Amino acid sequence: MPSDLFTIVPMDRDADVLVVGAGAAGIIAAWRAASIGARTILVEKTNRLGTKILISGGGKCNITHDGPLEDVLRAFRPNEARFIRPACYRFTNRQIVEMLTDRGLEVYTREDGRIFPVHQTAKDVVAILRSYLHDIGVDIRFDTAVNGLIVRNGKVDGIHTSMGDLRAPTVIVATGGSSYPNSGTTGDGWVWARSVGHTITKVRAALAPIYMENADPERSGVALRDVLLKARAGTKEIARWRGDLLFTHRGISGPTALGISRIVTEHLESGAVSLEVDLAPDRSFEGLSEVVKAWCADNPKKQVASLVEQFVPKSLVKEVIEATQEKLDQTVPNFGQRGKNRLVEVLKGWPLGMVRTVPLEKGECVAGGISLDEVDPKSMKSKRIEGLFLCGEVLDVAGPVGGYNLQSAFATGFVAGDSAAHEVLI
Ligand SMILES: Cc1cc2nc3c(=O)[nH]c(=O)nc-3n(C[C@H](O)[C@H](O)[C@H](O)COP(=O)(O)OP(=O)(O)OC[C@H]3O[C@@H](n4cnc5c(N)ncnc54)[C@H](O)[C@@H]3O)c2cc1C
Repeated sequence: MPSDLFTIVPMDRDADVLVVGAGAAGIIAAWRAASIGARTILVEKTNRLGTKILISGGGKCNITHDGPLEDVLRAFRPNEARFIRPACYRFTNRQIVEMLTDRGLEVYTREDGRIFPVHQTAKDVVAILRSYLHDIGVDIRFDTAVNGLIVRNGKVDGIHTSMGDLRAPTVIVATGGSSYPNSGTTGDGWVWARSVGHTITKVRAALAPIYMENADPERSGVALRDVLLKARAGTKEIARWRGDLLFTHRGISGPTALGISRIVTEHLESGAVSLEVDLAPDRSFEGLSEVVKAWCADNPKKQVASLVEQFVPKSLVKEVIEATQEKLDQTVPNFGQRGKNRLVEVLKGWPLGMVRTVPLEKGECVAGGISLDEVDPKSMKSKRIEGLFLCGEVLDVAGPVGGYNLQSAFATGFVAGDSAAHEVLI
């Protein structure tokens, strides 16, 4: 129930707090503001609540990441971790899980720390969040596109929407990034923030698939399990990520590709980037040489292809052998030391070719956004204009895959809602 705080906002105002964007950040911001007594309107361009939550984790929703907060924060770049730290301590990974489990969601934690619903899906997560908004009396306006901020006497005083103006002394912008534009996120918040003096740092792809120059559509759908994907600019290694890799029509996807995509995007701006895969990441060159030697000794009548099959799916054996410059039907007796050395080299660094591009719109989030220097991390309040609060992916924060981005959105949303409400209530 709302607290004892009361409003001093003139009744000609539509609300105490206007929240723009009903994603993870906006939902929690609106719920928090209303929970402490603010008349709150949540304005959403589409006809859905939490569209990105619904598609998150392949429809399963990786809600957050388990573990001590300092470990969670370490997954972010240092300046981003510094910025979201106060918010993550105000609204922790445990708190969002408790909020959901209190209303019946069962969750489990994977070995890698990612927290998911047990039986239910992302739909149930959104249904529970909707019930919180409903119970606390948040007025949700769907199909209402916000076009800009109303600024009066140097302060934010409301928003222009497709359904007319709405007036309020505080506005929380939670419009997300610009990937998956069909979900409603088209970077609108950046335009308004810029119009009141904010800097928008360069927006780049993050957690996105990678398109390759020489993509072979025949490989599409083939997966490599637990490999180490490496990116190089010239000969210098610039990024690496261990996990699964999925070949697609245009290149690669899966956790490894998503994991390096942000750094690859940054380097592509100044030059070419190539990719290679370590197919035996647990073995050193020497260790793998021993494995190859021992296997050949134990299997004198077999073809080398049988050995390669232990490292890649059958459909890729031919390509790996070709990369070693051996014949596909090469037999062990004819497989000399030079061939063995080349095979080890290829297994430790199978070249995938040059990166063509990293499509921003296909990313799970974007890097870049409203400069963190211009937002107070303790309140999510704009340092550029009074009455404006910013939270979620609209800010220049992008975590890796693993529930980190929802955690960041929930936590910064909580603080924005709390601060905006306290600004107008006494
Ligand atoms: C396919 C996919 C899978 C993902 N999986 C995960 C995962 O499992 N775990 C995880 O932690 N993260 C995941 N993410 C990332 C995560 O979903 C986002 O980082 C997070 O949802 C951002 O929350 P947000 O509230 O800031 O923005 P969003 O959730 O994007 O919400 C912004 C909202 O603002 C609305 N809006 C925009 N402009 C306007 C306007 N002009 N007027 C009114 N409303 C407007 C949009 O319609 C949208 O509803 C995934 C993302 C994608 C795309």
